[in-house]
Amino acid sequence: MTTIRFLNGLNTIGGNIVEFATKTSRVIMDFGVAADLSQETVASALEQGKLPHVPELFFNQPDHFSDEAIFISHLHIDHMGALQYLQKDIPIYLSEPSYRLYRLLIQLGIEKPVANLHPLAFETSLAVGDLTVTGFHSDHDEPGVMALLVDDGSRRFAHSGDVRLNGPHADRVHAWANRFKEEKVSLLMLEGTSFSFDTPIPAEDQNHPSVPLTEMSLQTKFQQLLADSSQLVVINPYNRNYERLAAFQASAHVNHVNGRQMVWEPNEAAILTTMTGTQPDAILGQTIQLTDIAQQPQRYVLQNSFANLASLANLPISAYVHSNGEPLGDYDPRFAQLKDWLADHKMPLVFMNASGHAAREDLIELVKEVNPRVVVPWHSFHPEREADAIDAQTNADVLLPEKDLYYDFNPLTEEE
Ligand SMILES: [Zn+2]
Repeated sequence: MTTIRFLNGLNTIGGNIVEFATKTSRVIMDFGVAADLSQETVASALEQGKLPHVPELFFNQPDHFSDEAIFISHLHIDHMGALQYLQKDIPIYLSEPSYRLYRLLIQLGIEKPVANLHPLAFETSLAVGDLTVTGFHSDHDEPGVMALLVDDGSRRFAHSGDVRLNGPHADRVHAWANRFKEEKVSLLMLEGTSFSFDTPIPAEDQNHPSVPLTEMSLQTKFQQLLADSSQLVVINPYNRNYERLAAFQASAHVNHVNGRQMVWEPNEAAILTTMTGTQPDAILGQTIQLTDIAQQPQRYVLQNSFANLASLANLPISAYVHSNGEPLGDYDPRFAQLKDWLADHKMPLVFMNASGHAAREDLIELVKEVNPRVVVPWHSFHPEREADAIDAQTNADVLLPEKDLYYDFNPLTEEE
């Protein structure tokens, strides 16, 4: 008998963690934080439920599992930010690209060192005692993202991860949805980010007045902006979406009359090369200096992270393009600082964001494709809205579980 316990993230965006356990084996999926832990100790964060209630992993206490492992669906903080607090030496599996990205971010000092990391090949089952886990490549704004399937020998349980259907890899999403349908899954845990807000606009676009873009339409808009700009164009992307980094550099080259060189900060140059094999046009402080850019601003696009904002002060800038970089939105006090600084320096701020999360109707479509027996909506401020929509529009039963209780999803004992 497998028991399922929801350890966090039932009504927050991110921080969603689930545990599957048998008598001897345990699998935990995702290990992120959705709260600010900067003023907390591990003990106080545990007490307040900001870390999942698995003290044995944080204080290296004995547990009764002979086999256990953690699986990370993708490398966003709200899905992996608690790994750094682990004391127990438990194996951690990520997709092969997410594993490489994690190793690189640790090497660059962007992430804290974490031991016992392992790559998990897509669609290759891994046994953890009497549980078997398989990862499926998916589509999100972290390109290594996977959906996960747990098999306990008699039933299958599915985890959507963060997912979208309007991205460049929708075929991957339909492929795993089909596979999950064939597997007749007892449970689909489905993210519900886009049900969080009163308008159906995905989370990270709430603060931005632009129309939501896709990864593809974003680059079309960016190429148009480059064609219309007579001076330097600055971009602020999120560096874990390395496919978008590569797309920006390709867009910079598009206009053959006045194509531009893409200038990267060293960390982003390293991520671009390691993760996509693309060579950076230029690396700031290494192969080019700000003074070079200032002399021919129309020949360049410059990637800038918020920490280096002040270095832009004396450059002739046509547009500062905010593209899901940090700070991401109004909830971050640095976002107001960014807007004020750009206004003070008369630099136009342009939003070009594309969401990693599916629209509401696409989430319903996914439920229909997978056709699970039960859906647990989570990763949303309003999972009950997602629950209502699924209930009204699909054949699946919906459960809004309680945190830290044990469920078995056995059809005979459903009314627990
Ligand atoms: Zn994510």
